[in-house]
Formats: sequence, C-alpha cells, structure tokens
Amino acid sequence: MFLRSVSLSLLLGGLVSAADADLIFHNGKIVTVDSKFSIAQAIAVKGGRITALGANTDVLSKERGGQTRVVDLGGKMVLPGLIDAHVHALGAALSEYRSKLPPLGSIADIQTYVRERARVTPKGEWIVVPRTLPPRLKEMRMPTKADLDVAPDHPVAFDGSYVWSANTRALQVSGITRLTPNPPGGEVGKDEKGEPNGILRNASSLLKGVQRAESFTDKEKSEALKKMLGLYAAAGFTTIGDRAVGPADVAVFEKLHAAKELPLRTVLTWRIDANRPIDQIEREINASKWKTGQGDGWLRFGTFKVTLDGGQSVGTAYQRMPYGPFGRQLYGQTDPDARGTLFVEPDKLYQIYKAARAKGWQLTAHAQGGAAIDTLLNVFERLDKDKPIRGERHHVMHGSFMSEEAVQKMKRLGVGVDAQPGWVYLDVPALQRVFGLQNMKWFFPLRSFLQEGIPVAGGSDHMIGHDKDNAVNPFNPFLNMWACVTRMTTEGKVFNAEQRITREDALRMYTMGAAWVHFTEKDNGSLELGKYGDLVVIDRDLLTVPVDEIKQVQPLMTVVDGRVVYEKR
Ligand SMILES: [Zn+2]
Repeated sequence: MFLRSVSLSLLLGGLVSAADADLIFHNGKIVTVDSKFSIAQAIAVKGGRITALGANTDVLSKERGGQTRVVDLGGKMVLPGLIDAHVHALGAALSEYRSKLPPLGSIADIQTYVRERARVTPKGEWIVVPRTLPPRLKEMRMPTKADLDVAPDHPVAFDGSYVWSANTRALQVSGITRLTPNPPGGEVGKDEKGEPNGILRNASSLLKGVQRAESFTDKEKSEALKKMLGLYAAAGFTTIGDRAVGPADVAVFEKLHAAKELPLRTVLTWRIDANRPIDQIEREINASKWKTGQGDGWLRFGTFKVTLDGGQSVGTAYQRMPYGPFGRQLYGQTDPDARGTLFVEPDKLYQIYKAARAKGWQLTAHAQGGAAIDTLLNVFERLDKDKPIRGERHHVMHGSFMSEEAVQKMKRLGVGVDAQPGWVYLDVPALQRVFGLQNMKWFFPLRSFLQEGIPVAGGSDHMIGHDKDNAVNPFNPFLNMWACVTRMTTEGKVFNAEQRITREDALRMYTMGAAWVHFTEKDNGSLELGKYGDLVVIDRDLLTVPVDEIKQVQPLMTVVDGRVVYEKR
C-alpha cells in the first residue's frame, strides 16, 4: 500500500488527488503496537484504512491533498484504537438512561438512598437499591434486613446480583418466614434464632411484586445504546466486545448498524441459556443463523458463551476451596464449606460445545472460580482430543482464580483469556480476607500468562452506570492499564508484585490481545499499513508519565474508520 501510494504520487507530481488522504496526523508520537512496537511521527488514513505511517515529511509530502484534514499533534501521543473485549453495552446503557445512579460505597450510602427514595415513593411500593457488589462496600458485608429497615413503610430490596437482601416489610409482603423452604439451589438466610435475616442467596425469586427491570421501548433502547457506544468512544475505544447477547439485543445493534449510526465496531458474544434440556439447546444452536465471524467490520459475531459459575463478588463463583468464615460476613453465607455454584455439569458443557463447535463457533465460558476454570479447561481438553482446538481461539472468560496447572494447560491447548485487571484493584481487599493471600497467588496472573505466550485480552466487564471511573465495572481503559502495571488495590497496597506487567504489555492487552479474541488482528489492534484507520489521541505520554498518572490519561480525539467520532472540547 505504501509503495503504491508513493509511485502514484511520483507519477502525478504535486496534484495527487487519487492519493489524497482523508486525514493526516503529524508531529506526534504514534505508538503503533506493531511487532517491534515502533513509534512513528505521522499517519495518514484514506477510505477508512491506514495508507501511510512514518516520518512527518514523508507522510505529508506524499499523502496530503486539497481535501485532507491535517492535524498537528503538537507532540501528543496516538495509540491504536482501544478495544474493550468485555462489556455489556445495552444493560449499561439502560441502567442510567432515565435517572442517574447514586454512588453507593457503604451501607450508610445505601441507607441514605433508601430514605431519599422513601420520601418520593408511595407507601407500600417497592424500593430497589441498584445493583451493588458487597466486596466493594466499605463494610465488606452484605446488608441485612436490619440495615434496610430504614424505610419501614416500603418493601426494600438490595440487588447484589445472585444475592439479594430484603427488609422486614419486603419479607412480610412476600410471605417469607422461618418456615419458607429454600428454592432449588437457593437459600433463605437465617439469623441465630432461625428467623430470616433478609439475605436471599439465589432466592430473590421469592420476592413478590418487586420490579426487577424497567421496561423500555425499542426507540429508547437504540437511543440509549447509541449514547453508551458514544461514551465508549469518548473513553478511547474504537471496538467493543459485547459479551452476552440474545436475539433481542442483536436486533438493537442491527438497527443502529442499518441506520449507519454505530460510532464504533462491535463484536457480539452469543450467550445461550444452558439451564435447559440438551436437545433443546442443540436445536437452538443448529437452527441459528449466527456463527463466529459472521457480519462485517462494524458488527459481527464473535464467541459462543455459556455461564459456567456464579460471581466472586457474590460468593457464588465455583472455587477449589470453601469461602470459609469470612464468606458469611461478605456474602451472607451460612455454610462455611460452601464453594459456590457450578451451573452446568461437565458432560453437558461438552455436548453443548460440541454442537456449537460443529457450527463453527469459537467457544468461551464465564468461569471465575478456580474449580469452574478447571472444569472448563477439562472440557476444552476433551474437545482437543476429538480434534485439536489450537487455532480456534477458545478462551476462558474472566479466569480470576487461576493456578499454575491451569496456566500450563491453557498454554498446551492454545487457549486464551479475557481478563479483568480492574478487579485486582477493586476486589482484592475483600477477597484476600476470604481466601488468604497465599490462596490468591494466581489471581489474574497477567505476567505468567504473557511469559507462557497465552493471549490476554483486556476487558472491563462494564455492566452498570455511565461514568467510566465509577461504573460497575469501571471501563476507563487507562485505569485498567494502571491496575495491570501497579497491581495496586483500593487499600493502597501492591498485590502480587511479581505479576505486574509493563505499560507496553498492558496496552497490548487492550489492542492486539483483544483483537486476538475477535479474530480481527489483520484489521485492528495495531497501526499498520492497510489496517483500519482506528486510533485515539491522548493527552499525555502513556509510556513515560509517572506511573500514578497512567489512570489519569484522557483521550483528546477518537477516530474510527478514518472518521472523528469523539473530540474533546
Ligand atoms: Zn460479563
């Protein structure tokens, strides 16, 4: 491409309309993230693709034309457009569509929120505290009935994902008493006297009349999604991986795509409901028109997903060891031997995967706890015996509680990982109290992954809220890169320093690493000739700023397909 444009411009002298770039950035520090991690001064984009990259004078003299928008970077840094391999865009979009979410960092904050809602909510109507994860509360414990009894005239529920809490009124209106049987796989928490303490583990279905989800029109959904994608672009992303879609979500994306209103590229992960008979699941897989790679540069299908276990933030991730006594406080557990929940038996997972693989799907599973990771890798191993899986880019989603053996098995099988370094920062303080530091040695072992040549995609698992630094989970890529580089926790302590990685490697996770998961490294993940004109201009030098400033890096401009989709004003 480069040579062609050179010869063309030589041929046409100074009037090179055919080679005129749409956009040139020059006088900058352009971090290409190519195999040599080369740095260029200037870059040109035409027709959505990179046509030149190199020294200022070369790029300007060969690519500049009358219509070219020329941007003098004034020494600023350019990165390849960033990729968040793991978000839940539509859910996050709608979570703050109608009203702003309150910051809930402690039980006192929750009580304030409930009191405020009680003032404007008619007596007897439900108040639901927006989803909050107990390990991220200052008190590091589940709120109980007593904590939520600050609005006695209202049934109040705290949404902790798999685990909910309810106040006295909520238990009453739902008819939950000491005699209520546990639902299958769930538990009604009890106090020392055997009375319900308000904590409902996998048992929120017992709450009667609570509105779980607001409803939205199609128009509202597409408006909200478009806004959310715009916020991702403003955070520096040019591609996202949406990690759990079904037909209704796909329709919202497709509508925006058809209207040419997608501000960035999206790779969709189809999550099926594995909690059904296998023949029904197989039928659905076989009947589906979707498969990995289907779509175009803006919207395509990526991975096939099964949710294998619960969450580490709520004590349901399926672990190799029990949650122990601290699990009672943090997650309201009653069984000190509880190890979490495996949602899908290995044989069934194998059968589901076999059907999906036959249809050409790349495979993944949500697996946070160590025993879930081991289960998943055993199933991958079984598939590998049928036919080698290397090259199919199957991967562990999350993979929080690794082990040396698991890392070695991933290496042997050619399995990658979609990792959430932000959780090191946010969740280690609580989790280390649960499991002890020794058992946390292989918690997101980023350096070990890289040393073993295991592909690592960076992902936030953003699902609630619009603020990139305070959302659940924060989707600010620079905050997450900072977490990779420092492994600093919210308590200000460095956790497992030996697993820290370099800034360059952290950047690779959010570029080439994520592109590996998407099978798109020929088009994005680095700035090279012929690849997409997807890039982000940032306000400071990511590679040399003091380490604490990494999380403060701000995008100034985001370009997708050679088009400016965000510009800081
Ligand atoms: Zn997720």
